[in-house]
Amino acid sequence: MNEAGVYLSFACVGARMSEQLVVRMATRHIGLDVLGGEMAYISHAHTDHCAALGGPLPIFCSDVTADILGLKSAPEEKKVEALITAPAPEMPPSDSIKKTKRKRKTASVSPSASSASSFRPRRFSYSKRAANGSLRIPIPDGVELHSAGHMLGSTQILADSEKFGRVAYTGDFKMRDGLTVKGAPVLSCDTLFAECTYGDPKVNFPHPNDVYADMERWARQNKSAIQLWGGYSTGKAQELVKFLNEYLDETPIVGGRAAEVCEAYVRAGVKLKWLDPDSHEGQEAMRGPFMSVMAPHHLHPMLTGRLAAVHRRKVLSVFATGWALVRQLPVDAAFPLSDHADFNELLDYAKASGAKRVILAHGDNERTAKALRAVGVEAQSIESLDPQQTVLKIEEGKGE
Ligand SMILES: [Zn+2]
Repeated sequence: MNEAGVYLSFACVGARMSEQLVVRMATRHIGLDVLGGEMAYISHAHTDHCAALGGPLPIFCSDVTADILGLKSAPEEKKVEALITAPAPEMPPSDSIKKTKRKRKTASVSPSASSASSFRPRRFSYSKRAANGSLRIPIPDGVELHSAGHMLGSTQILADSEKFGRVAYTGDFKMRDGLTVKGAPVLSCDTLFAECTYGDPKVNFPHPNDVYADMERWARQNKSAIQLWGGYSTGKAQELVKFLNEYLDETPIVGGRAAEVCEAYVRAGVKLKWLDPDSHEGQEAMRGPFMSVMAPHHLHPMLTGRLAAVHRRKVLSVFATGWALVRQLPVDAAFPLSDHADFNELLDYAKASGAKRVILAHGDNERTAKALRAVGVEAQSIESLDPQQTVLKIEEGKGE
């Protein structure tokens, strides 16, 4: 048994190192956006938070997140205990995971411009990964999920812990309202585990209404061009579709994974209008100066150049991302529309939560912790937790 009930190890998720955060909450060892502990909590449907997907652990998350991820529910509630205590099934060898990743990458290369709809990205479904052993279970007793305001279905988790008191974990979050999701409520807690993607005091996002106004002005000024709006397929693309629907009365062309997620948003009650690039209406729309929402990696000069040649029309690329405040982006226009908290929001949240201790995960958490301490918040990066209070093997901590 260890003192803190927090377990740290490290795993490479995508291209970055990600903390394996397992916290004993509500009598269970819960992996917070990681594959670890007795059961895994997925805060939202972005891949860097879905390490548990396709793994052997039972998963719990919001209904919308489960829908977006294609997670199947465990058949009966009484089988949950059996799922948790069953020996973990063999994970696929890492070789096969690498091969699958390579295959996907090949499948999603920018297609040729032989037809107007040729930029449509291939479909990518989570259902295959979800089918590989992951089952969705009901939210455990004593655990509360609250909106995280990040993308539709994103949640924060709140539960009691013997060692940490009332614990909240935010995952990615923001407190500002978006067009498709309301801002996150502050959860009162003793210990706050928070994400700090933009935990730099210099990064302060403008009010979303100001960003929408700038985007609208730019779109109207360039109405005669084909406009390719780049936003991550899960969350930001739907926010952009909503923006184009409401501010410009435009129905953009959307295909692939972004369209699948649009469908999940509609099932959850968000009104969105878009056109399939292969539909008759989509083909008709693409005879004129259309707008399209697509994953940012498709905003490549090769694609815009080919589209311009095929359509004999100017093609402009625009990217909506918080990184627009941080670095120069290789597009025609970039707007700082972010689904993440900036430094002041993080500070406001930490203060309003009443947390006596703030532990930061992801991002430049060491620097963020230092900046928070400078303004009176007791913050530390997760890596800086006392080694005496952490262990590398979760088995040692069973039965806190
Ligand atoms: Zn996210």
